[in-house]
Amino acid sequence: MGKQVLIVGAGASGMTAAVHAARAGADVTILEHKDRAGKKILCTGNGRCNLTNEKQEPRCYRCGSAGFAEGILEQFTVEDTLAFFRGLGIFTKDRNGYIYPHSDQAASVLQAFLQELDRLPVTARYQCRIQQIAKDKGGFAVVSDKGVYKGEALILAAGSKAAPVTGSDGSGYELAAGFGHRIVTPLPALVQLRCAEKHYRKLAGVRSDGEIKLYVDGKLAAWDRGELQLTDYGISGIPTFQVSRYASVALHRRQKVTAVINFLPSLTVEEARDMIRERLKAMAGRTCIQFMNGLLNSKLSEVLLEVAGIPGQRAVRSLTEGEKKRLFQAITAYETRVTASNPYENAQVCCGGVDVKQVDKRTLESKLVKGLYFCGEILDVDGICGGYNLQWAWSSGAVAGKSAACSKGR
Ligand SMILES: Cc1cc2nc3c(=O)[nH]c(=O)nc-3n(C[C@H](O)[C@H](O)[C@H](O)COP(=O)(O)OP(=O)(O)OC[C@H]3O[C@@H](n4cnc5c(N)ncnc54)[C@H](O)[C@@H]3O)c2cc1C
Repeated sequence: MGKQVLIVGAGASGMTAAVHAARAGADVTILEHKDRAGKKILCTGNGRCNLTNEKQEPRCYRCGSAGFAEGILEQFTVEDTLAFFRGLGIFTKDRNGYIYPHSDQAASVLQAFLQELDRLPVTARYQCRIQQIAKDKGGFAVVSDKGVYKGEALILAAGSKAAPVTGSDGSGYELAAGFGHRIVTPLPALVQLRCAEKHYRKLAGVRSDGEIKLYVDGKLAAWDRGELQLTDYGISGIPTFQVSRYASVALHRRQKVTAVINFLPSLTVEEARDMIRERLKAMAGRTCIQFMNGLLNSKLSEVLLEVAGIPGQRAVRSLTEGEKKRLFQAITAYETRVTASNPYENAQVCCGGVDVKQVDKRTLESKLVKGLYFCGEILDVDGICGGYNLQWAWSSGAVAGKSAACSKGR
């Protein structure tokens, strides 16, 4: 009989850990409190599952300890991930470095896992509510409403607080804290930002290219560029998601957060200035709202004129130098006050989690409790948008699964 490994959580990282532990000879039991596995996987990539990204750089992962995430990612790389999924029958497609299953269905990724778990010595217990976990010399005893499960090693793969409807409700942090682990305050990340200005009501549904710079107490904290989405309460879209974790952390610390948006991101400041100057000259006989037509979305144009304090019906030729400057400023450096990030319900991931300083950076074993391992989002590691969070789940799951199965029982 193989080593008994218990895993809490049948999400992306827990199932990966189960496959690797079982392939390494362990007998695995997964304890999942939802009625089925992988609910979050089904929502990923708008139902298509952006399972990894071929461009990997340290800056794509944020973590409480420099080099921690990289050390795990290099033990189970993107190449290993693609080979792993090919082995499960998932043929992939590459969209500009963003990797998806060829079926374009997240459900096929989940199916592939379930088939593999079926083939291996893995037992999954669903709707299993954990009441207590005891540890003695022989290992762990997990007391649940479905019975007591014993294992020599225990992997906590219970996710974060993001998208709690999928099962990750933060209870994993409590289990980790019960073993004495420090939890870095979890906060919503990859999430929309709420802003103070009233005019957002007029902007709902607008999409525009933009470069967003996020300032915390006046200092640049993060920036990104791409398609912004404006909502009736603030800003959304991938560039907003990418900077959102810095906003969440700063707002939690009660710091002042502002975002400055350039709606002409494809031009340098000089090019934008020349273009606007020439356009003002060429369109001197038009109204200001006509001047904006064809440049930016019409709803956005109205609001930016309002921000610049210029009535849309004013003739372009009547604008003073000061007004022209304000208009340029509104188009290329629109400033908005960020008041909150949206809640966990809307977040794709959380920043924060189990403090990685108390976790072994090679094996993902707890430095406090022998035989206890962590993987996935429960750890204080969050990736940027684009397949990086699932890559972290696959890599950390593979490392934790293999380590738990192969370490000597204590
Ligand atoms: C809408 C959305 C879209 C996303 N799209 C992408 C994408 O395209 N690409 C990408 O890289 N990332 C994406 N992500 C992020 C990615 O899905 C997560 O980072 C990843 O699923 C985390 O894996 P995990 O195993 O750590 O946690 P989870 O997948 O959340 O799994 C945790 C599991 O543990 C179970 N659990 C929790 N507590 C307990 C408990 N006490 N007892 C028993 N079971 C428990 C949960 O029910 C759940 O099944 C997306 C996230 C969301 C919400």
